[in-house]
Amino acid sequence: MAIHDTTLGPGLGGIRMRDYVSEQEALVDVLRLSEAMSLKASLAGLDFGGGKAVMLGVPARERRADQFRALGRFVDALGGRYIPTEDLGTYTPDVEQLRETSRYGVGVAESRGGGGDPSPMTAWGVVCGLRAAIEGAGLPAGLSGKKVVVQGVGKVGMALVRFLLEGSAEVVVSDVDLGRLEEARRLGARVVTNESVLREPCDVLAPCATGAVFDERSIAELGCRIVGGGANNQLATDDDDDRLAARGILYAPDFAINAGGLINVADELGVGGYRRERAKATTEAIEPTLRSIFAESARTRTAPGKVALRMARERIEKRRARRETS
Ligand code: NAD
Repeated sequence: MAIHDTTLGPGLGGIRMRDYVSEQEALVDVLRLSEAMSLKASLAGLDFGGGKAVMLGVPARERRADQFRALGRFVDALGGRYIPTEDLGTYTPDVEQLRETSRYGVGVAESRGGGGDPSPMTAWGVVCGLRAAIEGAGLPAGLSGKKVVVQGVGKVGMALVRFLLEGSAEVVVSDVDLGRLEEARRLGARVVTNESVLREPCDVLAPCATGAVFDERSIAELGCRIVGGGANNQLATDDDDDRLAARGILYAPDFAINAGGLINVADELGVGGYRRERAKATTEAIEPTLRSIFAESARTRTAPGKVALRMARERIEKRRARRETS
């Protein structure tokens, strides 16, 4: 469990469950992800900090509930400094198991007063952000007729595929899970292999699986005009932002475009409890936020990721300075 920064508020972020190769890999992941959550909350104007948890390995089905109850005891002991929700590999019922032993945890079912699975809101935020990116890249406005490649059709990716198809985009997908691919195909998407997905010529590449998709080697092969998707920590290093720009690819910074889920779960802690319309309106502000990032990027000739980073850090620093002087 990692808490990156609590200047704006308690660390809020999901629990990731994966078969990590080593504890070291899991540690690097949780540290990077918790920082991304601080930046994401800041840029989205939320009064939350960055936190994240990772679970190493997927437990047998009969042990799963026990594991989440055990994690819940640990979360509770932190007294609200970290508020968990779901992420890659974890689901709404997992958060509900955790809540049996923890006062803290968001993303519970709507029947229990929560906002439910945040993934569709994440995907909706990606759609809003892509509108800004399409204009920023100088393409004709709107998603209609655009070719969008979605890497990973899990909770976020599949919801994104639905929105894209509703918006008359041409959709191509890849995943390591054949069942998910079949579902995407039934919806109307075309399937490509995991080996070729990044090279596929397209208007938009939307990474919606794991992180570190873009490095020196993969960027050289990309076939897209825009990168904008739900996955966290898409860049392997900070320099990859400049590499994308050098190739003429417009990068919608991950922590800016994928904030919808965070906004949705944060709304459960807002005045009067969860309000879907309020969460949706806040999510839709991702579009103007991205517009201002792209405008500032063009004005200062700075890659968009670095612009977004500066904007997110500035808000945290201002709050810290205000607190120190009061
Ligand atoms: P998920 O586990 O539901 O889906 C991930 C999908 O990616 C799965 O279908 C999996 O089979 C597939 N996948 C894994 N490795 C792959 C690979 N190498 N190539 C292609 N497909 C691969 O997870 P999710 O909740 O949809 O999250 C996806 C990404 O979005 C993660 O990076 C997560 O941190 C990020 N994210 C999620 C949310 C949310 O609301 N769930 C919010 C913000 C960011």
